[in-house]
Amino acid sequence: MKAPLLKVDDRGLWCEAGGFYIDPWKSVSRAIITHAHSDHAKPGSSQYLCTTRGKGVLQCRLGASAKIESLPFGESLSIGGVKVSFHPAGHILGSAQVRVEYKGEVWVVTGDYKREPDRTCDPFEIVKCHTLITESTFGMPIFRWPTAHEVAEDIKNWWIQNTQQNLHSILLGYSLGKSQRLLSYLESGPSPIYLHPSVIPLTKAYEKEGIDFPKYAPIPKNPLPGSLVIAPPAFLQSTDFHPFANSTLAYASGWMAVKNLRKRQPADRSFIVSDHCDWPSLLLTIKECGAEQILVTHGYTATFVKYLRSIGYSADELHTAYLGETHPISSETVKLEINL
Ligand SMILES: [Zn+2]
Ligand SMILES: [Zn+2]
Repeated sequence: MKAPLLKVDDRGLWCEAGGFYIDPWKSVSRAIITHAHSDHAKPGSSQYLCTTRGKGVLQCRLGASAKIESLPFGESLSIGGVKVSFHPAGHILGSAQVRVEYKGEVWVVTGDYKREPDRTCDPFEIVKCHTLITESTFGMPIFRWPTAHEVAEDIKNWWIQNTQQNLHSILLGYSLGKSQRLLSYLESGPSPIYLHPSVIPLTKAYEKEGIDFPKYAPIPKNPLPGSLVIAPPAFLQSTDFHPFANSTLAYASGWMAVKNLRKRQPADRSFIVSDHCDWPSLLLTIKECGAEQILVTHGYTATFVKYLRSIGYSADELHTAYLGETHPISSETVKLEINL
């Protein structure tokens, strides 16, 4: 049996023929990065390669001293005789699937991805391949997202109602990707928009790439009544939160599709907004890419692999460092909800 083109070792997903790693979790000499989230872009490697669109946010995350080279979407580079190219993953700005071709064999690593429209990043593209390494963060049938348009309308109506009652609206989500997507939903609202300090430099990196946003400002000492704040969940524990005592909280996440998790949140309201694929999008992608072999990593890998095999795919779990990471909710609990 010939050696696989990509395999996991103790540092990450390794391409022996090309001498590089994709999203390594330890420092390596050459790291190819799908996107700038911290579970994919670890500091300490000697040399990084990412998309041209994603270089600004990656540099922001890894620091000015990180040595980062970039490649535009769709252009290829030969690394040790292996042809490497990036294709949009639709997850956050600059996020990519990595296509690796060697001796006529093509593998694609999706990184994190979504198929819904999102004007803050380039739309997902199907890349034909023999082997697909896919994430499965939301690889359970319960996860089906409402349309972006529906969610944007819900958020805007919530904001208007809060402003009418003189309440601040605190919208909680990750500082990279989710915050910028939420901000992009908030055109011509009823009151000022403030961004948490951790969100501002990343939003500026998006603006440098030509993504435009509604007017925003840093959180002032004395916020105007009825304003909206976009901040990561840790904001609630910080002293910056004190001026916002008269507020209502909403949490924006794909996990909000699960009733038990909604109940556990301190938020008064939740919006189902995810930058990952839901169950139908995962299955659609696997079908459309035409892969003969599917390797599954991140999330509900065992359940998803079992399902893929039951419908005739050759599928296996890929044992990365993130397999078996703790999820907010077990597959058993999710199944229970499906049966209700
Ligand atoms: Zn991510
Ligand atoms: Zn991830």
